[in-house]
Amino acid sequence: MKLFGSYDVVVVGAGASGTVASIRAGREGARVLLLEGSGVLGGLVTGGRLTKPTGLINAGIFQELIDRCAALKGADPTVRESYWGRYTGAFDAETMQRVIIELIEEAGIEILLRAQVTDVVKEDNRLSGLIIMTKSGAQLVLSKTFIDASGDGDVAALAGAEVMVGRPSDGLVQPITSYFRLLNVDVPALIADAKSDADDLWELVAPANAGPRNEDYVMAVLLTGFTKRIERAKADGFDWIVPKNHITMKTGLIPGEISVNVTRFHGSGLDERVLSRAEIEIRKQAYCAFDFLKRYVRGFENSIFLEVAPKLGIRETRRVLGRYLLTEADVRGQARFDDAIGLCNSPVDVHEPGGDRAIMDNVGEGYGIPFRCLIPEGIEGLLVAGRCISVDEIAFGSTRNVPACAMTGEAAAIAAANAAAAGIMPSAVNITEIQDRLRALGVTLGSPAD
Ligand SMILES: Cc1cc2nc3c(=O)[nH]c(=O)nc-3n(C[C@H](O)[C@H](O)[C@H](O)COP(=O)(O)OP(=O)(O)OC[C@H]3O[C@@H](n4cnc5c(N)ncnc54)[C@H](O)[C@@H]3O)c2cc1C
Repeated sequence: MKLFGSYDVVVVGAGASGTVASIRAGREGARVLLLEGSGVLGGLVTGGRLTKPTGLINAGIFQELIDRCAALKGADPTVRESYWGRYTGAFDAETMQRVIIELIEEAGIEILLRAQVTDVVKEDNRLSGLIIMTKSGAQLVLSKTFIDASGDGDVAALAGAEVMVGRPSDGLVQPITSYFRLLNVDVPALIADAKSDADDLWELVAPANAGPRNEDYVMAVLLTGFTKRIERAKADGFDWIVPKNHITMKTGLIPGEISVNVTRFHGSGLDERVLSRAEIEIRKQAYCAFDFLKRYVRGFENSIFLEVAPKLGIRETRRVLGRYLLTEADVRGQARFDDAIGLCNSPVDVHEPGGDRAIMDNVGEGYGIPFRCLIPEGIEGLLVAGRCISVDEIAFGSTRNVPACAMTGEAAAIAAANAAAAGIMPSAVNITEIQDRLRALGVTLGSPAD
């Protein structure tokens, strides 16, 4: 088989976690390849049109990305607050993609897009290579270390790691949701309408004393509600085909732009038939919700349907069992760990698997994420980062958020780069070395000492 190349660190997946990991590993002096199956850099944060990190960003590369976006007027650095906690750094997806490209190129990283990892090469329990499917066929990639930032834990699963999927009781996972974007919404009219129906409003974050123009609300509004209005529309004969009873909206960079989170498809993001069906059903739901908003909510009368997010919004697939399993009790109890690599205050955000309820629970100052959650049990040469780390299904509701994914990418990269330089396995890198480097980068660790 043709050899594509040999590296110090290969990162699989260019989402928030993989992007951060590749840039950090490059800056630590490693020879890095960032492999991505699609043509998009940023994964869900760009292709999924997410726009808002849920929870505070804990320094590092992701903070730099937000700062660069803000310098281009493509992010809002204001710290905002809702009932579930504080957050900052709402951003525009295309500006984010632009600054990701800048930071990756500055770090001297090689990128290979449209290359899917389909198999692995192992020597005993050590991962030594990946088989990738490219336009010109299957090729081999060798590396001293690997980071699985595929979101789905594809590399770990192919390498034979133990993986967990969904709730232990029935294996069901959080539903798939794709954002869609509307233009030409009258945002002040929307807010006034939502406030006039206050008992149908779950959540409203909006700038105090904002003016009457759409420009006054750019990237600054988060609004959830309309359950009763959906019921009224159904009673009125409106054919509401969306299996969800509330709508979340956020303002974007373009004055009058609204991103809508309402579509919902239940099924496994690891099943190709589900993935294909979800693309179609979610579009149908988005058109239905657009018709509802135009007809029943003020401010949408002249709105224009811009797009459904190009990347399917897959919340949950595999979680890889590591040397520690972070639990719901750890997260809710704001646990601290000696080997913590970042303090995370993202809420427990769970969309009911198979149902239509949702929880968004505040975790206060937050909890530490142990480095052991990044080391797959029984496999050497590989770390995991992002939404596939070792957590239970409720802790996952918090660690799947972007600030946590970015933190795990940063720590995995330091460990992988140091391991490659020292000729040892990433699991053997002294945790103090990783923590000292993270502290020097301004990261609050979430250990008993921090
Ligand atoms: C609808 C929705 C709304 C959300 N809202 C928020 C929010 O408001 N705030 C927040 O903080 N978080 C939110 N999240 C969660 C958060 O966006 C994601 O959990 C996070 O971005 C995941 O980052 P990641 O890097 O782990 O994975 P991803 O972004 O999924 O990136 C993984 C990448 O790996 C690539 N890949 C996968 N398999 C392979 C393979 N075999 N070979 C090569 N490449 C591969 C994929 O193409 C993808 O680009 C939301 C998620 C969804 C779905």
